[in-house]
Amino acid sequence: MATRRTVSILGATGSVGTSTLDLIEREPERFEVVALTAHRDVEGLARAAIRTNARVAVIGEAERYRALCDALSGTGIAAMAGEGAIVEAAETGAEWTMAAIVGTAGMAPTMAALRQGRTVALANKEALVSAGALMIQAAADSGATLLPVDSEHNAVFQCYPHGCADMVRRIVLTASGGPFRTWTRDQMRDVTPVQAVRHPNWSMGAKISVDSATLMNKGLELIEAHHLFPVGHERLGVLVHPQSVVHALVEMIDGSVLAQLGSPDMRTPIAHSLAWPERMATPCTPLDLARAGRLDFEEPDFARFPALGLAMAALAAGGARPAILNAANEVAVAAFLGGRIGFLDIATAVEQVLAAYDAAPPTTIDEVLVVDGEARRQAERVTELQAA
Ligand code: NAD
Ligand code: MG
Repeated sequence: MATRRTVSILGATGSVGTSTLDLIEREPERFEVVALTAHRDVEGLARAAIRTNARVAVIGEAERYRALCDALSGTGIAAMAGEGAIVEAAETGAEWTMAAIVGTAGMAPTMAALRQGRTVALANKEALVSAGALMIQAAADSGATLLPVDSEHNAVFQCYPHGCADMVRRIVLTASGGPFRTWTRDQMRDVTPVQAVRHPNWSMGAKISVDSATLMNKGLELIEAHHLFPVGHERLGVLVHPQSVVHALVEMIDGSVLAQLGSPDMRTPIAHSLAWPERMATPCTPLDLARAGRLDFEEPDFARFPALGLAMAALAAGGARPAILNAANEVAVAAFLGGRIGFLDIATAVEQVLAAYDAAPPTTIDEVLVVDGEARRQAERVTELQAA
């Protein structure tokens, strides 16, 4: 039997984490699980660790350590707890690590995985938005392979002439437009978290679903693309494509346009990164274009979805702006999901924080975290005023 690829999953209980586990569990002869991590969900984590016979399971909230030990007792699986333990789990040297923690909480573990010099499948876009240059540098220094999992970036990766940015005229990321694609601003005013989280095509975690509804997700993805595919931000664009079948397009200087298509199921890009440079089968519904019948494309509407413009401005300005944008957005989305502010308040809060706060370009992860922390404090203040 060929040796199995050792894998770890940071954020194993989330949407991307469970899709990754689903694929790994279908081919146990191919993958060996080293570490699984989660924030609070002891039961989900323990179940996954037992099913996959993981070596170690790590829960982020230190006070849940006892509960995790109890859930794993007699299994031989090591239990660990706390933020530092998640970073340690990222350092266990698995050949392949899925970085699927949501938000800048994933930054330190993702960086730790990159420093191992192995393969990192990156879903945690917020870390790349806030600290992209540092993460790309860390990967280059350690010799790590960084594989994009976000469906659009995975699509670009498959079409991109690696090492030849000057052959590319334009990279276009597609956006479904989210659940409110055709709504007026007035209609969006009273949107509830339940409505915002119900994505028309993709099944995802709550935070990214809200980002998809505001189109902030596409803005974060432009920043992500800027770090992964260095063609210059002026050559990155967005097209709204409600069917979510074409995930991205790469236009070459000769006029050829390469695209990657597939059913909207994250298991396809995850499988691509899991098997890379080979391929593996997935249970995803095969794409049936005759059945789809038509593919539509339209320009994004910046007036109804101001978050996209804010993100594009942050990308163009560079420096600390993307980290401020991202931190303010994380706080505002949490306030919206908590029922404290309205849907339209999210982009307004981000805009106000960007207007009130700036910082010198961060040159270390610690400096990014300082900027992130200050932007969060400002966003807390702004959202408290909005809630009042
Ligand atoms: P999710 O909310 O479903 O899961 C998040 C995971 O991170 C969980 O395992 C949770 O336990 C863990 N986590 C949360 N906060 C943590 C903390 N403070 N410390 C340690 N662990 C913590 O999120 P998701 O939808 O799976 O998304 C994960 C990442 O992948 C995000 O960055 C998202 O933007 C990106 N992404 C997701 C999808 C998707 O389809 N869900 C697609 C593209 C990109
Ligand atoms: Mg995406």
